[in-house]
Amino acid sequence: MFDNTNYINTIISSGNDDKAIERASEILRQGGLVAFPTETVYGLGADALNEDASAKIYAAKGRPSDNPLIVHIADTKAVYELAESVPEKAVMLMEAFWPGPLTIILNKKKIVPDGTTGGLDTVAIRMPSHPVAMKLIKESGVYIAAPSANTSGRPSPTLAEHVIEDMNGRIDMILDGGAVGIGIESTIVDLTGETPTILRPGYITKKMLEEIIGDVSIDRAIIEPDPNLRPKAPGMKYTHYAPKGEVTIVESEQNDKKVIDKINSLIAEKAAQGFKTAVIATKDNAPYYNCDNVLIVGEADKGVTISANLYAILRKCDTIGAEYIYSEALNQNELGGAIMNRLLKAAGHRVIKVH
Ligand code: AMP
Ligand code: MG
Repeated sequence: MFDNTNYINTIISSGNDDKAIERASEILRQGGLVAFPTETVYGLGADALNEDASAKIYAAKGRPSDNPLIVHIADTKAVYELAESVPEKAVMLMEAFWPGPLTIILNKKKIVPDGTTGGLDTVAIRMPSHPVAMKLIKESGVYIAAPSANTSGRPSPTLAEHVIEDMNGRIDMILDGGAVGIGIESTIVDLTGETPTILRPGYITKKMLEEIIGDVSIDRAIIEPDPNLRPKAPGMKYTHYAPKGEVTIVESEQNDKKVIDKINSLIAEKAAQGFKTAVIATKDNAPYYNCDNVLIVGEADKGVTISANLYAILRKCDTIGAEYIYSEALNQNELGGAIMNRLLKAAGHRVIKVH
C-alpha cells in the first residue's frame, strides 16, 4: 500500500520547456527519479550507473528486484562503455533502428551495477527517438535506466496523466510530452547467444529484424503460455496490464459476426446478473455491440492505431469499474504478435474460440 510518510512533492512540467529539462537533469545527476516520454511508453528514469538511484525505481514501482531495467542512451558510443563486446549484428541493428523502439541485450561491463541489471551479467540498451527523451539524456549527461513509469503490474503509461495516477508523490518529477506514438514497449532482442532472439515483441517485428541480420528466433516462453517455460526477459514472467475486471478474448477464424454475437450474449448474461460490462472493439464492429461501455481501440488492420490506445483503454476499464470485459482478438494487423502478447497477459490467457 501507498505509504504517506514517504510522500514527496512531485514537480510536473512540460517536456518542451528547456528550464524543466535542466531541472530534471539536475535531479537525475543527484540520484533522483524523473518520468519522461519516449516514443513507446513513458519511462521512469534514474542514473543507470548509480546503484542507489536505480534502487529507488524499484521502490517507487513496487517492482520485483530481479526484473532488470533498460539503459537509455543518446549516442552509440555509450554502447561500447556499457557492453563488454559489441557483435557485428548489434552494430547493424543499431544503424538500422536507432534511435527507435528496439532494445538490445549485450554482455555488460563492470561499470553497470547489478542493481540496474537485476543481478544479470547482461545489460539492455536502447536509444529512444522521442525528442524529450533525447534532450534529457544529452542534457543530464547520464545514462538513464528506465522501465515503464507505471506501478508494477498495471498497464504502461501512454499519457502523463497515467504517470501522475501511479507515481504522483513517489518520484521527483514528471515531464509531460503528451500522448506517445507507439503505445507498447520496445522490441527486445538478445544478442548474447548464437542466434539473435526476440525476448519481447514490439513495433520492430521479426521480419524487420531478419531483413537486416538474417535468422532471428523468438523466445518460446513468450508465445506458449506454458508455466514450465521461463521467459529470458525476467519481466515477461510477471502478470501485467490486467484491469481489475476479468478480461476475456473472443475470437473466430470465420467472421466478425460470430464474435459480435458471442460477445453480445455474454454481455446480456452478465448484465442480467447485475454486473458492469465493457467491450474492447475495433472501429467497424463497435456499432453492433449492445453494451453501455464500448471502448473503440482502433482499426482492425492498422496496428499502430490499436497499440497507441490499448493501455489507455485497459486503464479506462478500471475507471468505469467494469467487472467483465470482452475483447475482440486484435491480431489482424502488422503488430498483431506484439499486441496479442499484451492482450493475452491482460486476459490471463482467457480466450473463447467461436466456430
Ligand atoms: P520495462 O521497461 O518496464 O518494459 O521493463 C524492461 C524489460 O526489459 C523487462 O521485461 C526486463 O525483463 C527486460 N530486460 C531488461 N534487461 C534485461 C536483460 N539484461 N536480459 C533480459 N531482459 C532484460
Ligand atoms: Mg514495464
